[in-house]
Amino acid sequence: MRVIFRGVRGSLPSPLLPSQVEERVRAVLGEYLQSAAVKGGDQPDVNDFLKTLPREKLGGFGGNTPSIEVISKSGQTRLFVDGGSGIRLAGYDLLAGPCGKGKGEAHILFTHFHWDHLIGLPFFTPIFIPGNEIHVYAVQPDLPEVFKTVFKKPYFPLNLEQLGAKIHYHQLEPRKPMTIGEITFTPYQLDHPDPCWGYRFEADGKSLGYCVDTEATRVSRDELGPDLPLYQGLDLMVFDAQYTLMEAIEKVNWGHAAAALGMDIALREGVKKILFMHHDPASSDSKISSAREQTERYLETQMKGAKRSGQVLREPAWDYAFEGLVVDL
Ligand SMILES: [Zn+2]
Ligand SMILES: [Zn+2]
Repeated sequence: MRVIFRGVRGSLPSPLLPSQVEERVRAVLGEYLQSAAVKGGDQPDVNDFLKTLPREKLGGFGGNTPSIEVISKSGQTRLFVDGGSGIRLAGYDLLAGPCGKGKGEAHILFTHFHWDHLIGLPFFTPIFIPGNEIHVYAVQPDLPEVFKTVFKKPYFPLNLEQLGAKIHYHQLEPRKPMTIGEITFTPYQLDHPDPCWGYRFEADGKSLGYCVDTEATRVSRDELGPDLPLYQGLDLMVFDAQYTLMEAIEKVNWGHAAAALGMDIALREGVKKILFMHHDPASSDSKISSAREQTERYLETQMKGAKRSGQVLREPAWDYAFEGLVVDL
């Protein structure tokens, strides 16, 4: 199974400002010249030098809002999760295939309908090409109403009826698996101010849990109850880490979590790998990197605590997701 992250920012698209790009270029050039000076004036290889820079000093984490793609190993089944501003880029990819000729189809699953998860839809090019079939899925019954609202004057120049592609609406049953081609998925409820459903995907013997947006007010097995299978034994868990631990305590009922909450669930449920996303639009790349360091310390403490109490915990691989990240399971 392959997972492509095209939007990992929460709440609002938040590109770097030109002044921030300039500042970063200036800092990188300064470091490059410094490393050349250390080498007695010899110019270091540019690519080797850039590889030494941490994410927050170079490309950063990206500013597009949530959209990921899940692809089966053979490449035959492709599903999109959420229509944040990141889905615009996926649309361009699809144009290279049958969708570019009006003979394609696309499948988009929605977690919920907050703007950051819809805002890319009017710029998902395959939806405008006659002949394409766009299948959209959600547990919430108001999916057709939501599409009518997104594609409606005066918010957008075209009404839903004027889109070229045919839209097919599919209402999902809570916690009931559905299979499209080579991928099976099951919706489980998350903890968000408006109903929000995460998904467990299974394909090619691998599993992925998409757990964004969630405040993770339920952490224990008892609290999670029927939604526990979303997390159990996952090969990859994608989790909401909009806030640092202190912010999460301050922002009760805002619908987002800190990485530590996901880490606790992952450690207990034997998750093999975790990627955190839905980064706060107000967080700079260096702030996200500090949150990452905080998570590293939290995990170390949890592992030490477990060792002292004789508990056997498997340490998961983990990181903070960035735009353009491709993960093969
Ligand atoms: Zn969101
Ligand atoms: Zn939301």
